[in-house]
Amino acid sequence: MQRPPASVVVATGIEQVRTRLAAALARAGRPATAVTLLAVSKGQSVAAIRELAAQGQHAFGENYVQEALSKIAALGALDLSWHFIGRIQSNKTRDIAAHFSWVHGIDRLKTAARLSAQRPPSLPPLQCCIEVNLQGETQKGGVTLDALPALVAAMIELPRVQLRGLMGMPALTANEARQRAAFRQLRAALAPYAVHGLDTLSMGTSADFEAAIQEGATIVRVGTAIFGPRSKAPT
Ligand SMILES: *Cc1c(COP(=O)(O)O)cnc(C)c1O
Repeated sequence: MQRPPASVVVATGIEQVRTRLAAALARAGRPATAVTLLAVSKGQSVAAIRELAAQGQHAFGENYVQEALSKIAALGALDLSWHFIGRIQSNKTRDIAAHFSWVHGIDRLKTAARLSAQRPPSLPPLQCCIEVNLQGETQKGGVTLDALPALVAAMIELPRVQLRGLMGMPALTANEARQRAAFRQLRAALAPYAVHGLDTLSMGTSADFEAAIQEGATIVRVGTAIFGPRSKAPT
C-alpha cells in the first residue's frame, strides 16, 4: 500500500493533535493559551517541517545537532523557534548555544555553564529546562529529585542561560492514572521554584500529552502524532 503524501499526513496530524490539545485543556479547565505545542521533528523531512510551518506551527524540537543544523539552515527564511531536546554532548554545546532558543534536557551544571559561556551576546539568554529522572531509570538522562535543588541554585546564577523549569519523560504506560501520577510528581518538584520565576513544565509526548495537560504541562513535545512515523535516526 502506498503511503499518503507527507503534506496530507502533516495536515491531518496537526489538526487531530490541535483538537486533542484543545479538548484536554478544556477538560482541565485551563485556557487555550496555557500550553505550547512543540512539534518534535527529529527524523522528519525539511518538506514536512515547511508544511507544518505553513499550517501555523512555530516551535520545533530536534534531538540530533547535525540533523538540526542542516534543517535550521534550510528553513532560515522562516521565523521558527528551535528547541534542543536530545542528549547534550559537551563538544556540541557551542552549536546548540548558537542555533537554538531553548534546551530541555540539562542535567549537569558543566553543560549549563558551557551553554551560558558560549551563548552569543547578540542573542537573548538561552531558555533552559532541567531534566528530572523521576523513576530512577538508569538508561535515561536527568537529575534525581535529591540533586535538583543544588542544580537549580547554581543555574540561576548563570548569566546567559535563563532557567525556566523542568522537563520529564516518564516511562511509557497506557494507564492514565500512572501517567498522571508521574507528571504530578514533576509539577510538585517545580512548585518550590515558582518564587524564582520558574514557570515551565515540559512534559507529555504523543503517547501521554493529554495526561500531562491535566497535570499542568506548559509545553508538550509531540512528534509522531503530528508527522507520522519517523525515518531512522541518523547515526
Ligand atoms: C522523540 C521525543 C519526543 C516525541 O516523541 P513522540 O512519541 O514522537 O511524540 C518527545 N520528547 C523527547 C525528549 C523525544 O526525544
